[in-house]
Amino acid sequence: MYILVINCGSSSIKADVIDTQLKKSILELDAERLPSTPFIQLNNEQIIYHGDLNFESIIRYCLHTIKSRLAEKQINGIGHRVVHGGDQYSQTVCIDAAVEAAIENLADLAPLHNPANLAGIRSAKEVFPAISNIAVFDTAFHQTMPKRAKQYAIDKNIIAKYNIKRYGFHGTSHKYIMERSGEYLKQDVKNLRILSCHLGNGASICAIEFGRSVETSMGLTPMEGLMMGTRSGDIDPGIITYLQNKEKWTSQETEDFLNKQSGLAGLSGLTNDMRDILQQASEGNEDARTAIQVFTHRITKYIGAYAAIMSGIDVLVFTGGIGENSADIRHRICQGLEFLGIMIDDDKNKSAKLNSDNDVANISDENGRVKILAIRTDEQVAIALETQKIIQEKNKVNTIPKIPIAISARHVHLSRATVDILFGKNYELTEFKPLSQPGQFAANETVTLIGLKNKIENVRILGPLRPKDQVEISKTDEFFLGIDAPVRESGHVEGSPGITLKTAHGEVAIKEGVIVAWRHIHMHPNDAALFGVQDKDIVSVDVDDDERPLTFKNVLIRVSDKFKLEMHIDTDEGNAAEIKKGEEGELVLSAKSVNLHDKNV
Ligand code: ADP
Repeated sequence: MYILVINCGSSSIKADVIDTQLKKSILELDAERLPSTPFIQLNNEQIIYHGDLNFESIIRYCLHTIKSRLAEKQINGIGHRVVHGGDQYSQTVCIDAAVEAAIENLADLAPLHNPANLAGIRSAKEVFPAISNIAVFDTAFHQTMPKRAKQYAIDKNIIAKYNIKRYGFHGTSHKYIMERSGEYLKQDVKNLRILSCHLGNGASICAIEFGRSVETSMGLTPMEGLMMGTRSGDIDPGIITYLQNKEKWTSQETEDFLNKQSGLAGLSGLTNDMRDILQQASEGNEDARTAIQVFTHRITKYIGAYAAIMSGIDVLVFTGGIGENSADIRHRICQGLEFLGIMIDDDKNKSAKLNSDNDVANISDENGRVKILAIRTDEQVAIALETQKIIQEKNKVNTIPKIPIAISARHVHLSRATVDILFGKNYELTEFKPLSQPGQFAANETVTLIGLKNKIENVRILGPLRPKDQVEISKTDEFFLGIDAPVRESGHVEGSPGITLKTAHGEVAIKEGVIVAWRHIHMHPNDAALFGVQDKDIVSVDVDDDERPLTFKNVLIRVSDKFKLEMHIDTDEGNAAEIKKGEEGELVLSAKSVNLHDKNV
């Protein structure tokens, strides 16, 4: 696919057309010093701009320039980097009016970035009206962080008033690093604890536990955490008020000090460029040495802290301009971390050279427990790949239905022969109420289940009749009754235990038929096509609960034109997951589904 990636900053525009197969840009536009003195380059060739000196006009001009170089039909989608997605967006989404409004509303939290991102979106819609626009949020990947990691320890009323919390940034890069690590190591990221160190001009570190961001060093703004090119990173808040008092700084002056006059540049007094600082340090400059030592010391400190949070690390990744290129910095960071299983191979580290054809280097010593990788990240390519995923899902993001979750209480399905015994020859069940699945009903009639230890009365019979008797109970019932029932797909009762069924009219001991129902989703073939699944696939379903987001794994897909979309779990699962009435789940689309036939179960 060809994806146009638009990254609008407050004074710059970067717009690249990426070939997602080659993971390379085929057209690169960079515009800087906006809007007053625009300097625009297309594939390193300067373009002279004569239009109005406002941001919107310049973006439109840039996009028209790209369009004139590349026929519209060749672009499959447009991916926009959006800095702040607030609490609302935990994944990449197709941009509609609601998404646009949300980005606008979040400008309060990212006053320099979100309005510029929005201007990019609006211009793209104008210049490429037929192409889908996708928002890739810097904050989205970190939405999975637990509350204790997101929360600042300040007055909760102020937190609520201004929505103050750790949002984290560089999410697109950290997610890309996670996926690339899993791919390279040929391991499912759901089995890995990854520490991703993005060390560029901006720097952040992210603890990724089994596929989810659980901690990250940037906070409400990208100023917190590691020491960066020109940003201070962590600082005692007392220093800020102290300096404001002494220097009589306004809030803007204070912010500029922490954002632009600190970090490597501030401490070295030289530059924000690590290459120059390393050079100066090797020539004996003490300040450059201090800057490097503070920079690496802080990263080492964070690695220790995040290792503690995840109870260990499996993969340590270095990325960003410094992480990808500086063997010296990687070596310094890893020094003394052998106790965590982090052992770098100095030869591999020194010889690691990353480029577009060789984007991962394994620099770990074979005796170390932790895999240490240097991985080339390219934000524009990562945005293009995220955008591609959404386009491939046929722009389904905003139209894919949520799956209603129903809790299925214990019940029985009976055969003609058993009904004859329990209620009399040719007795017809009477309908108490229809069930959500078309044609099915709960009957007025009930039975008593008599197990080895106990009995359960008033168990509802579901109609219509079936060829075989089937008693569906929960694990708790199983224990109470004293029966070991297997977890089975409905209709598969071969070899399952029997039980005694009793009514006022009769009693029968069925030889088999007691199962604990495998959690499953009923769906119509149209839904199956929309989700891209088939009958008997095994999938995962996310339930998006703010307090306790959870995933049901191992959910069986059942497709029939008689079915209506609904997931069925039993009472035990419903209670354990605190599922409330009306709760809905989302199919985990990225997770590869397994087919029941392949699993040999
Ligand atoms: P940004 O956050 O702006 O995207 P980059 O990821 O491009 O930044 O990283 C820029 C940083 O990477 C600069 O400090 C630069 O000096 C550093 N860098 C690039 N190449 C090397 C190298 N070979 N050795 C050390 N530092 C490097």
